[in-house]
Amino acid sequence: MQSARKIRGSVIDRMGMSPLHDSAVFLAPTPARFPLRPRPSLRRERILVQALDAMLDTFAPRGCLACDADLAPRAQRRFCGACTISLEPGEPWAPYRYGGAMQEAVVRLKYRDRTDLAGPLGHLMASWARDRRVVDEGAVVVPVASSAERIRERGYCHATLLAQAVAAELGLRVMPFGLVRVHQHGTQKGRTREERLGALAGAYRASAQVHQRRVLLVDDVVTTGATLHAATSALREAGAARVQPIVLAWTA
Ligand SMILES: [Zn+2]
Repeated sequence: MQSARKIRGSVIDRMGMSPLHDSAVFLAPTPARFPLRPRPSLRRERILVQALDAMLDTFAPRGCLACDADLAPRAQRRFCGACTISLEPGEPWAPYRYGGAMQEAVVRLKYRDRTDLAGPLGHLMASWARDRRVVDEGAVVVPVASSAERIRERGYCHATLLAQAVAAELGLRVMPFGLVRVHQHGTQKGRTREERLGALAGAYRASAQVHQRRVLLVDDVVTTGATLHAATSALREAGAARVQPIVLAWTA
């Protein structure tokens, strides 16, 4: 079932559509930006996506992001009922509190090779950011990327995958190397905020391409905010006009 879901994710990604384009979302474009009747090409695309979706629902039903329990076909929900209960809203840059099902989903994305979860999780971040109107038009999406060493170990960068999903959903451009982690001082786990800030000074370098750009900075989890602080400083130093962080979940 897990591999079927991965295939589902990659098939839809290859078509250039996010697996999160639930039909309801797809059917309801913003009236101000779209004519009342969708363009014929958009209609065809929608029919194609619906057909593909129905087919995939048979072979690879949508699963809960935390426990893989089957979700109802065309469900808007991303977590099953039992897991939804453990979700807590987050603040101030994050839609969720880190814990329960959200923690499980992040752990699966980060450490268990479940790259197929980046799409739906990125979609949750993007809709939250859109609802809160924190997204600047024309902003570039920059991930708080892991170090090259860490990326080699895992085979992928989860923050970059999230940033790509967020960008696709918001119709923004992603800059995967907008921010590079230059120092890796071991894990941040168990350190105080001061220790983290010290260890992170100069840990990131931003690309000159962010100069005068508005940046939507994407990361998975914020603990003390030290990483976001270091990343934001680096972007500012490189001349970014504005930096808006969004993170999937916050701890503490
Ligand atoms: Zn579940």
